[in-house]
Amino acid sequence: MNAEIIAVGSELLLGQITNTNAKFISSQLSELGINVFYHTVVGDNSSRLQETIRIAESRADLIIFSGGLGPTKDDLTKETIAKHLGTTLTFDPVALESIESYFVRQGRVMTENNRKQALVLEGCDVLANHHGMAPGMLYENDGRFYLLLPGPPKELQPMFQFEAKPLLAARLTDGATIVSHVLRFYGIGEAELETRVQDILEAQSNPTVAPLAADGEVTLRITAKASTEQEAWLLIEAKKSEILALVGEYQYGVDDESLASKMVEMLLDNGLTIAAAESLTAGLFQSELAEIPGVSQALVGGVVTYTEQAKMDQLGISAQLLKNHGVVSSECAGWMAKNVREKFGTSIGVGLTGAAGPDSHGNEPAGTIWIGISLGQEPPVTYRLQLSGSRNTNRLRAVKFTFSFLMRKFVEKGYKKR
Ligand code: ATP
Ligand code: MG
Repeated sequence: MNAEIIAVGSELLLGQITNTNAKFISSQLSELGINVFYHTVVGDNSSRLQETIRIAESRADLIIFSGGLGPTKDDLTKETIAKHLGTTLTFDPVALESIESYFVRQGRVMTENNRKQALVLEGCDVLANHHGMAPGMLYENDGRFYLLLPGPPKELQPMFQFEAKPLLAARLTDGATIVSHVLRFYGIGEAELETRVQDILEAQSNPTVAPLAADGEVTLRITAKASTEQEAWLLIEAKKSEILALVGEYQYGVDDESLASKMVEMLLDNGLTIAAAESLTAGLFQSELAEIPGVSQALVGGVVTYTEQAKMDQLGISAQLLKNHGVVSSECAGWMAKNVREKFGTSIGVGLTGAAGPDSHGNEPAGTIWIGISLGQEPPVTYRLQLSGSRNTNRLRAVKFTFSFLMRKFVEKGYKKR
């Protein structure tokens, strides 16, 4: 089974919005074990949309449309599909009722084009829209599936997850259940991880195992198909054990867990507190931690010391050190970590300094980053990164790497891990 996603909307072609719907749908389909071979974007134009549908039909079994289900004249997705397939549109009574009652509740007059939103392809499965008016549709024709979803992500996402996904899973897998489970790794590159589990990646059928690298971390998604959910989980657990026997030391979590959330768990479970001195990340490290509920028991505070003067004034870094080693140096990161730990009286201090890019900093090329970690009375340890992304990618990756170095330190120290 392979899919193509057609995003309809001239704003996408004009560069006014980003096609995040395709990204979302693709990641959802991978959970179902459905391959996506093409993402297409087409404007609000009926003849070009028809041409796009013809091409998609030549190469996909499942065609998913996003956008163009609304009330206005430029919303023409379902009309075009109906015309193309030679079928008609009929009013869905449930959708019509919900649109009418919405206008009654709001005390507003319903115009004729609002009724249009309740029109669906004759004979389709109607997908309820709990966050907007236009219903979605799943239509089968000639062994091929057409899934129509509304454009706004806050409508499309729940509709896909709660309405479309169960239907697709049932239709496409002859009633089998598909379960997927994500293993998350830190401190190992994608290439190395793949090499270590190469035999598993090559021999796979059911469950399948798919690697993915993003934002400084690597994941493996295990997807199993079986007649019951329980059987699927048994397949997943067996494959998971095989994988972890090879690379278990690098695993930090599963599914939606993040490095930051595991870090916070580790800090809380071991009664540790943390403070950070940030230069190039200017607060991003603390901000990522602050996203995790409960972190106030562990994150005490920190300072943003962007300039050399601020590093001297706020952290007591000596002018001599900066002169001898430069601000992008192991020495500077180490002292930032140690001094911020002492300033805030925490168990851990973190120092982040570097050249985020695009410009170099003195002799240090763009992307050179030093991370210092100070743990109790031990001398601080430092790590050097040489990143090659854009300025903001480098800043975020510096934070992720800091989490992974801290995690490694905690494991070395034998701190308990949930
Ligand atoms: P509406 O009833 O709001 O008109 P619709 O189904 O007709 O919904 P569109 O008119 O195509 O959808 O898009 C509505 C809005 O949804 C866009 O202005 C945009 O904000 C968002 N949107 C549309 N397509 C995408 C996409 N591919 N990725 C992300 N957002 C999108
Ligand atoms: Mg619209």
